[in-house]
Amino acid sequence: MPAAELPRHAIDPEAIITEAVLTIEPHLDAETVRRVLAATLRRAPQRRALAAMLVGDPQWLTAGRPQSPRLLERLVRELRHCGAHQVREPRCGRCGQARPLKALEADGRTRICGACAVRTTTRDTACAVCATRSVAFRDRDGRPYCKRHPPEGGAQPLDAVCSAIKQACPGLSMATIAGRCGKWSPPGTASVSCCGPCRTIRTC
Ligand SMILES: [Zn+2]
Ligand SMILES: [Zn+2]
Repeated sequence: MPAAELPRHAIDPEAIITEAVLTIEPHLDAETVRRVLAATLRRAPQRRALAAMLVGDPQWLTAGRPQSPRLLERLVRELRHCGAHQVREPRCGRCGQARPLKALEADGRTRICGACAVRTTTRDTACAVCATRSVAFRDRDGRPYCKRHPPEGGAQPLDAVCSAIKQACPGLSMATIAGRCGKWSPPGTASVSCCGPCRTIRTC
């Protein structure tokens, strides 16, 4: 694509970033901002990526969003060292603190601090009742439980399904129901009803 057809953030990202910073921090001079930019974002693709972000939404510099990429975090931190007041370092997506963000949430975008990352790991690998670090079960929401604290008091999900079928179809024996359930793959439907004279099981 000829240069004339390229967007400005692709041709001169340094100018876009410098203008965006100076709009927020008018007491800084352009030379300082350019120097910080050259020192923190050394690769042109990084500068183009940040310029594109700021064209779309200049508040990336001041909102402290936990979705901010590392390159923005580095630039903001260095700008603050050089006297910037309004730009804001990204905050942890969990605790909201302006700490170094070392991990990602499950969404793959939200960044969190080291302390929150450790808490998440502990929560995901420790029994939800006694905090024992030995996980034997998980409930349907993925919460971990040790051997002594099986989810839902140890009730097996299949048992609950069989009981529901037995209620709906009292004419069927539990052995028949259990036999069917053993081969039955839950289709994701909620209710179970009896068809005709209780000879077949239908889910709907
Ligand atoms: Zn945190
Ligand atoms: Zn436990």
